[in-house]
Amino acid sequence: MKISIGIMTDGEPIFKNIGDYNILQNQLIGCGFHWQRTISSKLPGVLHPTGDSEFPLVNTIDIETYLECVVGSEMNPDAPLEFLKTHSIISRSWAVGKVLGCHAHSNEGKILSDDELRTWEDTADHIGFDVCSDDHCQRYQGIQPLTDKAKEAIRATSGLIIADADGNPVDARFSKCCGGRTETFDTCWQDIHPASIESVKDPWCDVTALDVKERDAFLQTVLKDYDRSTEGGYRWRAVVSATEIEEYLQSKFGINIGHIINLIPLERGASGRIKRLLFKGDKGDVIIGKELMIRKALAPTHLYSSWFDIERPSHDMFILNGRGWGHGVGLCQVGAARMAQAGHSAEEILHFYYPGCRIERMEESDEITDNER
Ligand SMILES: [Zn+2]
Ligand SMILES: [Zn+2]
Repeated sequence: MKISIGIMTDGEPIFKNIGDYNILQNQLIGCGFHWQRTISSKLPGVLHPTGDSEFPLVNTIDIETYLECVVGSEMNPDAPLEFLKTHSIISRSWAVGKVLGCHAHSNEGKILSDDELRTWEDTADHIGFDVCSDDHCQRYQGIQPLTDKAKEAIRATSGLIIADADGNPVDARFSKCCGGRTETFDTCWQDIHPASIESVKDPWCDVTALDVKERDAFLQTVLKDYDRSTEGGYRWRAVVSATEIEEYLQSKFGINIGHIINLIPLERGASGRIKRLLFKGDKGDVIIGKELMIRKALAPTHLYSSWFDIERPSHDMFILNGRGWGHGVGLCQVGAARMAQAGHSAEEILHFYYPGCRIERMEESDEITDNER
C-alpha cells in the first residue's frame, strides 16, 4: 500500500534526488506551534513538486516505510520497545484508515456565526494527498531519526492494526499527555463517537510524583528534545492579560468584542477539556470552540490543552491552571511509554487506551494497488 504525504517547506522547496531518497533542505515542522522550526530531511520515495504554496511537495512512499519514519519522528526512537510497537500499530491503523477513506468525517456541526465560532481542523481537510507531514496528521520527518529499535518495532508489528467489531481500522488518535483522563472525540472534532475511542482514567502519565532525576531520565528517553517540558505536559500554568486576549481574537479570528471582561467555560468534555468557552467583552460576547480553537484564542500560538481552570488575580489578568498536552483523545504517549517501561506489552497498552479494540493483521485484500488508487 502506498501513501502520499503533503510536505511543508520554509519558502520555495530546496531539494535534490540522490538515488532512493531525496535531501530536502528546508522542511518546516511544528507549523504554528511553539516548537516550529526548519530542518533538513532525508525523504525516501518519490517527491513531486505541486506548485501549491502551503504544501509545495508531495512525497509518495510505501506505507511501512512511512510508519518507520513516523515512529522515529513522533517520539524519541530509543523509547521502550513495547511503546514503539504500540505506536507502530496505532499509526498504521490511523494511516490505513486515511488511505482507504474508511473513517467517517464531515463538516457537519461547525458553527460560524456572529455569536459563536465552533470549528475544528480535521485530518480529512487535505485535498490532493492522504496525510500531511506535521502534527496536524502524524509527524513525518524522513528517515534520519530512524534507529534499529524503531525498525524492529515496525517489523515486529508488520501489517497489524487495531480494528473495531466490524473489522474497520480504528481512527486511532493520540496526543502527548492526556493529563490524567483521556478525552472523547466529539470534544475536539465532529459530534461522533468512533468505536474504541472512549474516555479512560489514566494514572500513568502523572510524572509529577517521580523524583526530579527519575522524571528527567524518563522524559529524555521518551520525548524528542524539543518536546521536553519539566512535567511532560501533565500540569502547566499560563498567564494571559485581557489586552492580549483581545488582540488574539482580532488577529486570529477577526473578532472584536472590545476589552475582555470575563471568560466562562460553558461546556467541558469527559476529561475536563473545555469544549465551548464564552468570552465576555465590553462590546459584546462570543462563544469559541472546540478545543483547538480555545487553545489558539488564549496564547500567541496554542495553549498546551483546553483543560484548565481560571483564576483572576486582577481584573486585567487571567491565570490558567491547566492539565495535559494536546487533545487527549485516544492514546496518551507519555502514559503509554510509562506503561511500557513498567513491563506492560503493546497489547495491554492498546487495550487500556482503546477499550474493546481488536488487534488484527490486515488481509491481502485490504491492500490496494497503485492502479486502483
Ligand atoms: Zn494533516
Ligand atoms: Zn495520560
